[in-house]
Amino acid sequence: MMGLPPTMNALRKPYGKEGLELDQVAPTPNEVGPEDVLIKVLRASVCGTDLHIFKSDPSIRDRVAHNQIIGHEFCGEVMEVGEQVTILAKGDIVSSESHIVCGTCFQCTNGQPHLCQEISLIGVDRPGGLAQFVVVPAKNAIKIQGIPLEVASFMDAYGNAVDTAMTVGLAAKTVLITGCGPQGLMAIALAVALGAKQIIATEVSKMRIDMAWEILGKHLQDDSNHSKSSTRKDNILNPKDRNLISNIYELTGGLGVDVLLEMSGHPSAITDGIAALRSGGNAVILGLASDKIELEWNDLVFKGITVHFRYGRKLYETWTNGQMLLKSGLINLESLIHRPYYKLEEFDVAFQTLLKGEAAKVIFTPNTDYV
Ligand SMILES: [Zn+2]
Ligand SMILES: [Zn+2]
Repeated sequence: MMGLPPTMNALRKPYGKEGLELDQVAPTPNEVGPEDVLIKVLRASVCGTDLHIFKSDPSIRDRVAHNQIIGHEFCGEVMEVGEQVTILAKGDIVSSESHIVCGTCFQCTNGQPHLCQEISLIGVDRPGGLAQFVVVPAKNAIKIQGIPLEVASFMDAYGNAVDTAMTVGLAAKTVLITGCGPQGLMAIALAVALGAKQIIATEVSKMRIDMAWEILGKHLQDDSNHSKSSTRKDNILNPKDRNLISNIYELTGGLGVDVLLEMSGHPSAITDGIAALRSGGNAVILGLASDKIELEWNDLVFKGITVHFRYGRKLYETWTNGQMLLKSGLINLESLIHRPYYKLEEFDVAFQTLLKGEAAKVIFTPNTDYV
């Protein structure tokens, strides 16, 4: 292949060993097939799944082949296109959709490809983007224009938040967002952009509470001390406060919230969220539960709550909506990004920073000529 170095840096997962290894491997670990593109990775980010892989968590450990190149949040420049690829050209900037769908199963052929039964994941089931180069199907390389590279690197994760926030209408609604990790922070920005009249979020970590206020203030274009001066009644609450539910009812005039966006997967966040919902409200669940969840089943029935479970991103409606919101300036994700950026060699520091909860999104620059 023209212009490629003989080897590249890549982060690989040795089976059964904690952490990752930086290795020198061939730059095209999977061949550029007729429907594939070869991407030079300009920015890459890290999501919760990568942290589970890093820790050899039993939830994912056995799915990742020994010495797999990991990473599914990345963007880059198209270096080469397969002979049947017509939608992309050399030089295009693309972001990755991590779910490769089969196109032939019942769901794929009936308008629900995001629920494909033969799904394969970039950076889990095949080599990923925490490397200098990566090969993906062209249909998983989404052309990006007018979005900063660092944000373009985590469009896949942002897509989860966009899909969740757009499941039911948020305009003029009171919205409870449980958990202010990256998904919750993006949901706060989206709830403002989509017209929520009141946003209440829950979070334990002091750093994340500060980030939640920052992203809320930025999207409300309110530089003053928002909690004191605004006529809005937004708030970030600590879920460990035993008055949490009564505080939420008080903030919503005794009614409860119209919509729950559950972004954490924490069992108590889910039960608290349901308890705080008004009768006839909507619960939208993205978080994967870290444990078994006990629910007051009759509360769900008597309240007439509608529950929506979300997985992945709608192909490609979510990508279109997410890009429009960013390009219009309604969404600004800069405050999620940890600085400085990392070289692949610095992976251990970057992953530890995330594991300690000191950053929402870290950014890698795998090709140093593109820093
Ligand atoms: Zn992810
Ligand atoms: Zn399918």
